[in-house]
Amino acid sequence: MSAKVENLIRKEVLQLNAYHVPNPGEMIKLDAMENPYKMPDALMDEWLSLVKQAEINRYPDPAASKLSAALETYMGVPQKNSSGVKNKIILGNGSDELIQIMAMAVAQSNKKILAPEPGFVMYNMIATFVGMQYIGVPLKNDFSLDMPAMLEAIKTHQPALIFLAYPNNPTGNLFADDDIVKIIEVAEGLVVVDEAYHPFACESFMPRLGEFDNLLVMRTVSKMGLAGLRLGLLAGAEKWISELDKIRLPYNINILTQVTAEFAIKHADVFEQQARIIREQRDWLFEKLSDFSQFNVYPSRANFILLKVLKGDASTIFEGLKSRGVLIKNSHSAGGVLTQCLRVTVGKPEENQALVAALKECVNITAVPLT
Ligand code: PMP
Repeated sequence: MSAKVENLIRKEVLQLNAYHVPNPGEMIKLDAMENPYKMPDALMDEWLSLVKQAEINRYPDPAASKLSAALETYMGVPQKNSSGVKNKIILGNGSDELIQIMAMAVAQSNKKILAPEPGFVMYNMIATFVGMQYIGVPLKNDFSLDMPAMLEAIKTHQPALIFLAYPNNPTGNLFADDDIVKIIEVAEGLVVVDEAYHPFACESFMPRLGEFDNLLVMRTVSKMGLAGLRLGLLAGAEKWISELDKIRLPYNINILTQVTAEFAIKHADVFEQQARIIREQRDWLFEKLSDFSQFNVYPSRANFILLKVLKGDASTIFEGLKSRGVLIKNSHSAGGVLTQCLRVTVGKPEENQALVAALKECVNITAVPLT
């Protein structure tokens, strides 16, 4: 007897497309919102000596205690909420894992995850992985939250989890603080403010963690220059974090990540300087992209910029850039407001210049002549 895939694997999983990550080869990589700068040479020797001492024959500290303490201080997690209840953090193998842990903790077939759309695709995918229903609430045309629609959807669906990316991916904007607060106030479930792009937005709900019982704030070190480590952080009231911690696999933060992230936090100024350059480059790139009459370019508080191709075809431009050695993200296939949209990650100055030069060639080829 041979087992049948369709008898064993859940229908929702059979219908999924695997998360696709293109192979960049030698291309200029502006597709995945990474920090383009490596750890500086000046830090290499000290880092390597720490890596040398790491006992990879042993399991890592399951609680990653030293790293957790360093992160709590560095990320400014308030120790207590307004009623004196302690806050805690949980670490994940990237914030992706934290989204999964939260979803697993609340998953029941009648429970829902809600987020604005377009948003980070993992909220939707992970809802499906754990057998929950996902409710996407369309943003307004200017990418702000459609508050009547959000409040109505929250009332109707009573979501167990609401994700608000701050700034939002892929649109790059910060939602209005008042709107977020209103959502936290009306929601009976948990509201996660996902601050993955905090190094570039420099705005945060972390200091307000103590004000709301159902608010969790999520961060990652991926965008600050440590995407290869896979390390995310979720902060909130101890009563929630302690429950989530039961689901976390032991040793989910490996020893090399623990050692390296601790070291990086000690040298946070280096990564903050890189973020500063990226913010300046974002503003430079925004101006250059805005010079193209073919594009509508959306202002961004993150390290990427979304643009809509008004004249020409996004997929042709995407392929044209690829053939010129520049890899960006083609958001067109997501449809809806992302139709004809491209998302570019801010790179090093020379990479951004190469992108603009390649774009000039591409739009000349694809532009529809004005009649
Ligand atoms: N949240 C948002 C809004 C993101 O865009 C991303 C990654 N692009 C993540 C979370 C996941 O980050 P990581 O798993 O690398 O920590």
